Amino acid sequence: MSYVSYSKSNGIAVATIDNPPINALSIGVRRGLMDAIERAQSEDDVEALVIACAGRTFVAGADISEFGKPYEEPSLYKILDALGTSSKPSIAAIHGMALGGGLELALSCTWRIAQSQAQIGQPEVKLGLMPGGYGTQWWLRLAGPQVALDVSTSGNPVSAEQAHEWGVIDYLVSDPAVDLVSAATDFAQDLIRKGALARDLSAIKGPVNNVDPAVFEVYRQKNQKKWRGLVAPQKIVDVLATSCALTFDEGCALEKKAFQECEHSPESMSLRHLFFAEREAGKVPGTDKATPLDIKSVAVIGAGTMGQGIAQACASAGMSVVIVDRTYEALERAIVAIQGNYGTSVARGSMARAKADRAFNLISISSDLVAVSKCDLIVEAVFEDLGVKQSVFRDLDAVAKPHAILATNTSTLDIDLIANVTRRAQRVVGMHFFSPAHVMKLVEVIKGSQTSDEVSATILKVTKALRKIAVFAGNEEGFIGNRILGAYGREADYLLEEGATPWQIDRVLNQFGFPMGLFAMRDMAGLDVIWRIRQEREQKGTRPAYERYSVLADRICEQGRFGQKTGSGYYRYEGRTATPCPEIKALIVQVSADAGIERREISDEAIVQRIMCAMVNEGARIIDSRTAQRAGDIDIVYTNGYGFPSYRGGPMFWAQQTGLQKVYKMVQEYHMLYGDTWRPAQSLAEAARTNQWPACQA
Ligand code: NAD
Repeated sequence: MSYVSYSKSNGIAVATIDNPPINALSIGVRRGLMDAIERAQSEDDVEALVIACAGRTFVAGADISEFGKPYEEPSLYKILDALGTSSKPSIAAIHGMALGGGLELALSCTWRIAQSQAQIGQPEVKLGLMPGGYGTQWWLRLAGPQVALDVSTSGNPVSAEQAHEWGVIDYLVSDPAVDLVSAATDFAQDLIRKGALARDLSAIKGPVNNVDPAVFEVYRQKNQKKWRGLVAPQKIVDVLATSCALTFDEGCALEKKAFQECEHSPESMSLRHLFFAEREAGKVPGTDKATPLDIKSVAVIGAGTMGQGIAQACASAGMSVVIVDRTYEALERAIVAIQGNYGTSVARGSMARAKADRAFNLISISSDLVAVSKCDLIVEAVFEDLGVKQSVFRDLDAVAKPHAILATNTSTLDIDLIANVTRRAQRVVGMHFFSPAHVMKLVEVIKGSQTSDEVSATILKVTKALRKIAVFAGNEEGFIGNRILGAYGREADYLLEEGATPWQIDRVLNQFGFPMGLFAMRDMAGLDVIWRIRQEREQKGTRPAYERYSVLADRICEQGRFGQKTGSGYYRYEGRTATPCPEIKALIVQVSADAGIERREISDEAIVQRIMCAMVNEGARIIDSRTAQRAGDIDIVYTNGYGFPSYRGGPMFWAQQTGLQKVYKMVQEYHMLYGDTWRPAQSLAEAARTNQWPACQA
């Protein structure tokens, strides 16, 4: 099969890449391109070579599955060098996206023409990499250091129009009806007529003069917080800063070395793992054979924190939304909050005014449940109370159209107990959004025992339209994320009793890469809600007998310390600023003494190890119980919903990087020391034996 076709007319050869869906630069494409470049070079009747793409885009990237492995020849470097040394000028004709190696292919051509609607970019940094096909050198030399820094360290694409202003694109085709290849050949013919087809790049390939070295340090300082824990953006700055004093070829050699270091970095391996895990998460048994429904209108029941965010997310995706609540006050508060959010996005420049207005106008409000009667999807986000939710679902079942899907945003309740009060249990599903729901990308999707494949397929499609990631979870308490949070939260509580302080644990978690420590997070969420849940559980007697119970959180709540909202919790607050609190330290020491626990010095390393092992063992139990489909799904949940640093790849990937056998051994030791809460999961034992996480059976 040929990925690159070659044709000729009037002295211009055209190489057309055809490797759907994104024309990735896989080995077949590279071979085809090399042949085309050599053929154009050797044919006397060819004066120039146009490189274009079939399908909906120019080359939108390298073949990511090839990273970290030995490359098959010809490498991208060989192709770029062949273009650079060929005596026949080349013209890249860009439509859709030219990204990463695809853009670098275009940059190595003599000229670039693009449709005005096209976008170009260097997204490598999002996978812990950096431009590796001379991208840093071209950007530095064509557009200057500031643009080179922005484009390569943000990874965000820019419009062809903007790139044209910067001199990176030579010619724009603004009429989308014009055939781009014809425009490229006309462009070449025109240059031939003017005798200007060849281009002297010698000036551009020398050192870059008159650059203030402070530009790079200032940029580094400005992004210090954003790049915490990341290596790739730092390396990009290093390469760009040093390259100013170098020739193009010397700069390319420097870039190549730095790229290879990134390619083998734990950060890039983690981010690549998450990239593939995200793709896998979308594969849910049964959904491939089902036809998803088209969801155009959504109703959100409950105008509180979650309802507001869910409504905004749906409207931003172009769906019409009605929010229903019992009171007009709640509805008005919601509308004001949503309007405020859109206003902030516009002010920040992350959303165009027209788009924000369009989305906002898609939202209506009602205090009458009948307003949902025409909606395709109804998402319930009322109080977390089974009785209240059941009553809402009974009413919804009566007024919603027969094919409407009823989703609940419950974070703890059994989906079946909600579904079974309706006459359409097969059309009921859990959609567990995270707060703030218009920002957070994760949605845990919970199938009840009767949820149909058609409904699952539809929810997958809807979450994609919302630009969110769906991870399917079993209908077990805590689903995936909160179950793991419960396990490591418990361990953190024990660590407090044994000698640590909330501020030590939070500092350690923060240094590990979490944006916020566990206790500061609890204080922010409010300690009273979970206190009530603990009391209910205590009454029901559902806690296993072997599980040690730390009373510290109860003692804190008994003092009326509910976190930020009361000015104190695990910390003392002035506004949102937390300070360690001597009274809490005294309370912890008292709780340890009451429990007969002798406090000891606990090292930062011991804290990381114990908390991570608790997460991993619970994750493995989640695989045992088939609550998650695969280990990668757990990593997606943790990095997208719970602040686990993406550059560490999620807890299950952390275990793989640390060594599955080593982690299993640590869990076994904790089991001996602390009893059955630490019983090693079967999947962990198996993973230690086979050196990989077991795949779950459907
Ligand atoms: P909230 O208290 O902010 O809002 C609940 C809203 O529901 C209120 O406006 C209330 O007036 C309305 N409501 C109550 N009963 C109603 C009824 N019968 N009909 C119409 N409206 C009714 O609560 P929230 O934080 O938005 O949580 C809502 C749901 O989302 C809960 O199930 C919660 O567990 C879940 N959840 C919350 C979070 C979070 O971080 N807050 C995260 C994930 C899931």
